[in-house]
Amino acid sequence: MVAAAAGQDRPQDAAAPVGADAGDQVDLVDLVDLAASRVYVAGHTGMVGSAVWRALQAAGVGDLVGATSAELDLRDRSATAAFLDRVRPDVVVLAAARVGGIAANAARPVDFLSDNLLIQTNVLDGAHAADVHRLLFLGSSCIYPKMAPQPIVESALLTGPLEPTNEAYAIAKIAGVKLVQAYRAQYGRSWVSAMPTNLYGPGDTFDAEASHVLPALLMRLDDAARQGTPEVTVWGSGTPRREFLHVDDLASACLLLLRRYDGDAPVNVGYGDDLTIAELVDVVAHATGYRGQLRWDTTRPDGTPRKLLDSSVLAALGFSPSVDLRTGVAATLAWYRAARLDR
Ligand code: NDP
Repeated sequence: MVAAAAGQDRPQDAAAPVGADAGDQVDLVDLVDLAASRVYVAGHTGMVGSAVWRALQAAGVGDLVGATSAELDLRDRSATAAFLDRVRPDVVVLAAARVGGIAANAARPVDFLSDNLLIQTNVLDGAHAADVHRLLFLGSSCIYPKMAPQPIVESALLTGPLEPTNEAYAIAKIAGVKLVQAYRAQYGRSWVSAMPTNLYGPGDTFDAEASHVLPALLMRLDDAARQGTPEVTVWGSGTPRREFLHVDDLASACLLLLRRYDGDAPVNVGYGDDLTIAELVDVVAHATGYRGQLRWDTTRPDGTPRKLLDSSVLAALGFSPSVDLRTGVAATLAWYRAARLDR
């Protein structure tokens, strides 16, 4: 288990609080004084958890707690309950999950369904038993129906069939959103869920099998540029549209939601704009300096044709992203290159 001291303070987001529904309107006072709280970040070693950890430190949170999966396997119900009972956090951010791209989801649906159900159920039940005041659960934009009207509003959840390539993960995550709502309904818990779009940034998974599209492209085109590879094959047609948000922007949104949102509906966290995978490849090729040929392997699945979130609820809370894609990709590439040299 690790604990952290406070970092440099940062101005708070000055925004009027709102919920997803008119009935969720709350007053202007923060729902929680984060700086005075003990905050447990489940998954603090991951891309999201470590960004949330950094943001909490920057916001002056002095009592931060984390545990690696080796120290605490959140699939272990009694160990998770005992940990939460001992730590007694005021606030929990649940950023621990089994996460992966299309290939990993297709190859290991049992892991994605079973592990995520166990992790989130154990953490939520343990947090309730430990009387945790505020909890933020992280869902994902990929749990909306495959053909949801664009941009996707929060109320689209459970209105149609899911994207088959990540169904196991989506079913687990939907159960997590529902369990948060159930705790709100049955026990009056002031717990909420966020629905982030595709994320990227430092700490991302750079692995041929497990990576999401952006780090997978960064890794492959950077390696190809270095090795002078004349041609790189990219999965799919390049036509699906995707939205990408830098993980530091997500972390800012998480803090904002903890402070200001107490609604039943999950809240979308997006960049507000999307681009085609072919356009993304251009951005990555430019950043990495890759000048070779690209071959589109259209026998590979494209996934959902478009995935753009309607993030107007979050915008009404005062959020706007601060990292544009080109800047964020360049910074992520620098992080990847440094991490690769460290290995
Ligand atoms: P990572 O794979 O980077 O990190 C996962 C984290 O979960 C790690 O800290 C890992 O701990 C921890 N973890 C996994 N299994 C266990 C376990 N059995 N017990 C304890 N800890 C465990 O994932 P991300 O940071 O990318 O994702 C975090 C959350 O954000 C997830 O809920 C995901 O669904 C959500 N999200 C992510 C998106 C993305 O694009 N990445 C998009 C939308 C939502 P350790 O390292 O110690 O093993």
